[in-house]
Amino acid sequence: MTLVVNQVMVFAPIAKIKTRLVLLASFLFIGSILFGCGQADSSRESVTLSGPTMGTSYHITLVAEAGESFGFDREELQKTVDDELEIINQVMSTYIEDSELMRFNRAPVDEWVELSEPLMHVLNISEDVSQRSEGAFDITVGPLVNLWGFGPEMRPEVVPSDDQLAEALALTGHDKLQLDVTRARRTAPIFVDLSAVGKGYGVDWVAKVLRERGFTNFMVEIGGEVKVSGVSPRGSPWRIAVEQPTALGGSARLALELDGKAVATSGDYRNYFEVDGVRYSHTIDPATGRPITHNLASVTVIADTAAHADAWATALNVLGPEKGLALANAEQLAVYMIVKDNDGFTDLRSVTFSQYAP
Ligand code: ADP
Ligand code: MG
Repeated sequence: MTLVVNQVMVFAPIAKIKTRLVLLASFLFIGSILFGCGQADSSRESVTLSGPTMGTSYHITLVAEAGESFGFDREELQKTVDDELEIINQVMSTYIEDSELMRFNRAPVDEWVELSEPLMHVLNISEDVSQRSEGAFDITVGPLVNLWGFGPEMRPEVVPSDDQLAEALALTGHDKLQLDVTRARRTAPIFVDLSAVGKGYGVDWVAKVLRERGFTNFMVEIGGEVKVSGVSPRGSPWRIAVEQPTALGGSARLALELDGKAVATSGDYRNYFEVDGVRYSHTIDPATGRPITHNLASVTVIADTAAHADAWATALNVLGPEKGLALANAEQLAVYMIVKDNDGFTDLRSVTFSQYAP
């Protein structure tokens, strides 16, 4: 029973933060009650780390090998993780005025700028998803994000005028960002914003650091984007829940069993504003410059990297259920969508997704 209490306490804060993927605390609880008696010796020692990052928070659970205990210095590891996340923020945050990305955003138009490996890496991932999604994913939507009041400028929640929209659209387009091997340039005064891929990239970064430190069993989560490796404290694959798409959240709609995979969810049921009964999402359709309006409540993507899962979740969220699912199947992506309809919600699954939740 101690195991049950520990696990519930360990995972409880995760359900409270602004996440859309929750660990299955309740499932662990029920599972342990039903099947757990006499299995206490199959549990593993685990250590959790957490802290603030990227305007949200991170949570890490590390799990020891069966019958072994951890010998590392927890405080030292926490400091390493915090330092590494600080490095990533200093590279790609648009909330830090002198971050590498913000300096790039201020560099003269047409001038090539040598960039660090992580910044080039995340820009390349973004460009790849942009091209494959025909521009639905676009890291240059910054001016539109700001205009609609979701960016660092935090404008009041008002609907912009057509003139303002046209002006911001003219400063948008991933084709105005050119990437060379170690350098990049803006061919117009665009503003690059990595909000839709940065948390995923941060998760991959921390996971890499943990692997280099010799950890094989872990879960890393930043703001709802998750990566898992090996086994959970129960000694079996990690179970990640896709949350019900309600503003309250918290309850599980679907359980995913994952190993060595990342999962991200994009949905507008948390981050939006309302004017005259119309809901404005923080996800912008780069084709129109306006927040998306279709009936897709959330889209969950499973991928090898959290950066890809994160970016694709946003891309498919822009495309909506029909186009999004068609593209997911064409690209062989593992995708789960929750769509609003008259009676509530219905689910859509890509072909590849079936292997994770038949
Ligand atoms: P979600 O989890 O809902 O996808 P993210 O935090 O991953 O949310 O991404 C949302 C952020 O991405 C927005 O706040 C905005 O800065 C940016 N964004 C909005 N629309 C797009 C888009 N079409 N392509 C890339 N980034 C976008
Ligand atoms: Mg995203």
